[in-house]
Amino acid sequence: MAEVTMDKIVSLCRRRGFIFQSSEIYGGLNGAYDYGPLGVELKNNIRDFWWKEMTQLHDSIVGLDSSILMASRVWEASGHVSNFTDPMVDCKNCKSRFRADQIDLKGACPVCGTRDSFTAPRNFNLMFATHIGPNSDSASTIYLRPETAQGIYTEFKNVVQSSRMKLPFGIAQVGKSFRNEITTKNFIFRSCEFEQMEMQFFCQPGSDDKWFPYWREQRMNFYKKMGIVPEHLRWHQHGPDELAFYAKDAYDIQYLFPMGWQELEGVHDRTDYDLSQHQKFSGKDLTYLDPDTNERYVPYVVETSAGLTRNVLMALSDAYDEEATPEGDVRTVLHFHPLVAPVMVAVLPLVKKDGLGEFATKLEHELREDFVTYYDQSGAIGRRYRRQDEIGTPYCITVDYDTLKDNTVTLRFRDSMEQVRIGIDKIVETIHEENRKYRRV
Ligand code: ATP
Repeated sequence: MAEVTMDKIVSLCRRRGFIFQSSEIYGGLNGAYDYGPLGVELKNNIRDFWWKEMTQLHDSIVGLDSSILMASRVWEASGHVSNFTDPMVDCKNCKSRFRADQIDLKGACPVCGTRDSFTAPRNFNLMFATHIGPNSDSASTIYLRPETAQGIYTEFKNVVQSSRMKLPFGIAQVGKSFRNEITTKNFIFRSCEFEQMEMQFFCQPGSDDKWFPYWREQRMNFYKKMGIVPEHLRWHQHGPDELAFYAKDAYDIQYLFPMGWQELEGVHDRTDYDLSQHQKFSGKDLTYLDPDTNERYVPYVVETSAGLTRNVLMALSDAYDEEATPEGDVRTVLHFHPLVAPVMVAVLPLVKKDGLGEFATKLEHELREDFVTYYDQSGAIGRRYRRQDEIGTPYCITVDYDTLKDNTVTLRFRDSMEQVRIGIDKIVETIHEENRKYRRV
């Protein structure tokens, strides 16, 4: 196992078209990233993996896609207008800006090394504010959402009434969020524009004692199912200093990123705080009438809140390896779970002449109905395998002279580099079977 550094990840992402910095031709915009041809496939696949797990495979979770722009009162009710702040300090010498809770205020400035150079900490609100409509007065102030969860709370009543969901049930949503982060280092780990995958599970007060541990277990299992190395995942329970005043309990799933253990997802027991706040600020009744007991109450919420773009960084870091090959060189390989890999199968003719190119092209077209495919006929076959290893393609199919005689091909597995001979009529079925039993070697 080679050491995985952020530099190696950033360089691979750029070189192979996973992720670029936004506005690069204008010198780049900090804290914003563009997902290239492979990056967008990877991100969408992780999103779909989560969506399937949360909605399709679960009895009682429905989806939602709420708008990014919401009434400003939402953010007053949620506490974001008054409390969504980070303490900020500036170095008086070099003018660099830091989060006061991320540096040693008694130590030297991490950029210029000057001692006793920090200003007193000031609170800085992380929400991006803009104006809606033609007037830019305070009445038209509107915020880019800093989390997707509030869209779920504000639609709780509509979902209950329109879908006849009965408690306990959850609402899942994936979408963009924006935070004016003070420090945006570590690539896509912390950016100003990012995506979240959130699920709010509404339940009867008191039953959160059952659902909170249930969701912690489910969420940890999800990452193991995605093929993440179990030793790279751990729990962190919020101490009294971290716990929001309304939260009963909160745990983070942390991942061992190249820069160390950091939060990947939060699982929170939020009690009835969110719906109570919206009830108070909107004046609308957000209680639920339990049809079985005839009781009326404000539901409790267990929240699972993961960063999609942070998941992309985790998937890349976890999959990255540099391995010695039997031929004596080193291959860079991304061991993605096949269902999140940007390309599922590459079709490679041994040579392009003598009809092999035509045969392989036709085969690749046929496989498109079932998988994301890639066709490559240029260069030595070994080099073409390396190119696919580097972007994490789990299967390569090689068409050779025997193929023309007996309709068989070589199927090569990325992780083990093993090769088997199979009939072309067995390709789809074999790949589906392999995906179902996928275990990283
Ligand atoms: P932090 O304390 O690190 O700023 P947080 O605890 O405020 O983060 P949450 O509000 O709980 O984060 O957000 C839920 C999830 O959204 C996080 O676990 C993370 O995966 C993701 N996330 C939050 N902020 C960012 C960001 N700026 N860039 C990328 N992902 C983010």
